[in-house]
Amino acid sequence: MRIIVDRTRCTGLGMCESVAPGVFEVNDDGEMELRTATVPGERLAEVEQAVACCPNEALRLAP
Ligand code: SF4
Repeated sequence: MRIIVDRTRCTGLGMCESVAPGVFEVNDDGEMELRTATVPGERLAEVEQAVACCPNEALRLAP
């Protein structure tokens, strides 16, 4: 699965980073960066939780 970020919605709050650190990271400029473009199978549940936690609905998963 790939992580799709809607940059028009993301405000760098970092909820995703707190749920799935190492996949999502908010940098010093307050911008969220993906540390991996594709989700390793063993981390899928964690990433799905991060997608659900985003208060701005900025994240989704795609095949
Ligand atoms: S939780 Fe959503 S709004 Fe916050 S940094 Fe992550 S993607 Fe952006």
